Amino acid sequence: GTVRERLSAGAPVLSLEFMPPRPTDDADRIWRNVRTLESLRPGFVSVTYGAGGSTRDNTIAVAARIARETTMLPVVHLTAVDHSIRELRSFIGALADAGVVNVLALRGDPPGDVTGKWVRHPEGLEYASELVTLLRQHGDFCVGVAAFPHRHPRSASIEDDTAHFVAKCQAGADYAITQMIFDVDDYLRLRDRVVAAGCDTPIIPALMPVTTMRTIARSEQLSGAPFPPRLAKRFAAVADDSSAVRALGIEQATVLARRLLAEGVPGLHFITFNFARATTEIVAELKIPA
Ligand code: FAD
Repeated sequence: GTVRERLSAGAPVLSLEFMPPRPTDDADRIWRNVRTLESLRPGFVSVTYGAGGSTRDNTIAVAARIARETTMLPVVHLTAVDHSIRELRSFIGALADAGVVNVLALRGDPPGDVTGKWVRHPEGLEYASELVTLLRQHGDFCVGVAAFPHRHPRSASIEDDTAHFVAKCQAGADYAITQMIFDVDDYLRLRDRVVAAGCDTPIIPALMPVTTMRTIARSEQLSGAPFPPRLAKRFAAVADDSSAVRALGIEQATVLARRLLAEGVPGLHFITFNFARATTEIVAELKIPA
């Protein structure tokens, strides 16, 4: 199956994001969480590539295990950073060998923070759009790309960001997933800009439920986008009470998900950080058709 097919069925598609275990992680615990989340019957699950300190090598292994041992459809994230075109070709070949046809094509970030200077591999690619083209040349992949509601931190302006995003879609993307959002208007403004530019690629909003005060700091680090100040104030008011923080996080993500569904989004993508409980609680409230 492909993400494209699942999106074209019409109903909003639930998707979940996992990270391959780092050497210091309890891989069995993570796998148990993956199996727990299978009961939500997601339309697809995605496995990150070199994000959050995980090594890149495990991505295909985790995706292949998901394909082999579960009923879930895996999507592999692939970043161009620090790879020559030759290495990318060989990775794409390995994906095909493992039977993975769904890929999220990304440029990636140089190590360090997301706003640091981009450095292209001397024999590598400059933009994610070129990775989309490379995948298209190598076979019948279903290709997703990234979208940035607040513009990418390295884009000079929102207009440039929109134009480059649309060009990336036209290079052959089947759908896009956004950077994590916390405000429905951020998603709607992005969608309006893209539609106004004549592009109808489905854009799936990503949600990262806040479960601790650390999640808020982490979201800004990962996305380079500000956490909405009004919401930050509500969390700050209960910061000393960890269960109140968690309850507010679940409530806020549930309200956001409901608003997004009411706006007709093609799906909801949950960044799980390899935990099962928060996502399970939110999805249980939503009654997304499986
Ligand atoms: P691009 O689309 O290449 O855009 C990068 C910048 O170049 C933008 O500013 C864009 O406007 C600009 N640009 C594009 N085309 C042109 C052009 N023709 N001329 C001039 N400028 C141009 N990172 C990981 O390391 N591993 C992951 O697994 C991972 N998963 C992610 C999942 C999602 C849903 C998202 C949103 C991000 C993810 N990232 C991941 C982070 C991502 O790699 C970074 O945000 C990266 O900085 C941007 O990637 P991109 O694919 O959007 O790049």
